[in-house]
Amino acid sequence: MKKQEIPYKVYLEEQEMPRQWYNVRADMKNKPAPLLNPGTLQPMTAEELGGVFCEELVQQELDNEHPYIDIPEEVFDFYRMYRPSPLVRAYCLEEKLQTPAKIYYKFEGNNTSGSHKLNSAIAQAYYAKKQGLKGVTTETGAGQWGTALSMACAYLGLDCKVYMVKCSYEQKPFRREVMRTYGASVTPSPSPTTKIGQKILSEHPQTSGSLGCAISEAVEVATSTEGYRYVLGSVLNQVLLHQSVIGLETKAALDKYGVQPDIIIGCAGGGSNLGGLISPFMGEKLRGEKDYEFIAVEPASCPSFTRGKFAYDFCDTGMVCPLAKMYTLGSGFIPSADHAGGLRYHGMSSTLSQLYHDGYMKAVSVKQTSVFEAAESFARVEGILPAPESSHAIRVAIDEALKCKETGEEKTILFGLTGTGYFDMYAYEKFNDGKMGNYIPTDAELQMGFAGIPKFPGNEF
Ligand SMILES: *Cc1c(COP(=O)(O)O)cnc(C)c1O
Repeated sequence: MKKQEIPYKVYLEEQEMPRQWYNVRADMKNKPAPLLNPGTLQPMTAEELGGVFCEELVQQELDNEHPYIDIPEEVFDFYRMYRPSPLVRAYCLEEKLQTPAKIYYKFEGNNTSGSHKLNSAIAQAYYAKKQGLKGVTTETGAGQWGTALSMACAYLGLDCKVYMVKCSYEQKPFRREVMRTYGASVTPSPSPTTKIGQKILSEHPQTSGSLGCAISEAVEVATSTEGYRYVLGSVLNQVLLHQSVIGLETKAALDKYGVQPDIIIGCAGGGSNLGGLISPFMGEKLRGEKDYEFIAVEPASCPSFTRGKFAYDFCDTGMVCPLAKMYTLGSGFIPSADHAGGLRYHGMSSTLSQLYHDGYMKAVSVKQTSVFEAAESFARVEGILPAPESSHAIRVAIDEALKCKETGEEKTILFGLTGTGYFDMYAYEKFNDGKMGNYIPTDAELQMGFAGIPKFPGNEF
């Protein structure tokens, strides 16, 4: 009978889509710590940030006061091409698990770039265009962010220079070609085209690259090329703000049916999809209106929340970016070569880090073979081939649903299904061949990363 109560797709009409983003910082008593200038250790001013980022994005980055910020008309029109994204009641998964839990997922993989990253890419590209810039630079790891940004830049007629982590550049040629098809230039990082790239290459000629290193290169090019700024696909406050469209749509659709989730789960790389999904719900919790259990899921091989330090740290390997206070494994941390599931950034959004530190949300880490097992079960019953990143959330949603099976509780579980896994078939192949490992860093290995966290008065950890 329950199938008639709530449809398989919990629809939101186009005219019901949110017209404003929600800024959760406005409702936080303890605001996220400001970005610091690595030279002076003073908070970065709007002027300093303006050398790297677009003006309006700097305003959004620094805005801890305004709860709602208008979505520009042009961005809204672009959203209408692929949003609202589907919110699905996972009846088939519930049946397979034989759980009394009610499971919902918000699917962000329904656009060509294949993930939620397009939500922020179009906003950032729009503000760059509005400022009259020629183009933007960025880094990409697995390639989703670079693809999303290429699409957004093509739409607005902006130049897009992507520094792609070298091992992904080589392992994911199709991602690279999608970006080039949208007109972006893609350079494997580290590259000889930047000073920092030359330095890293001379010290580590065999390196396969890292996100932190690609960020340094992209920032160097943006700050040394006229008419360019740097854009980042996660971690920053502005990105969480744009991604709040995920949570706002979800909440509007659930409210229509009088559904209130008990548990909200998301995977956490730099924190943008999780932050975006939970923001409006977190706002209610912060204002004391409602209560929810929030769970961040991260790989056991890159455990920033669960084993990291809460401290000011560098966002990039080259140490050219501002310092951010966050849960971090140290900017020199690189997950083991065995790691295949994404979510490999060493740090975490400052906003989510503060909320986690203050006890508003939980975090768990999961082993990668258990993540791919969950991905496979999910694909077989719900049809969607999930991204490995998203599958971290699937894992914990299944675990929570199985707990309900034991206790008989009819909890409502919501999770973010951030993208599709079509470009991750090497990882799936490894799993299908039984060749995937579960390497977990030792305390001694993590200690090497922590040793690189800058030491200065007030930054004890
Ligand atoms: C980038 C990405 C993530 C992780 O990034 P967050 O900023 O933590 O959201 C998760 N899932 C997919 C599909 C991604 O592309």
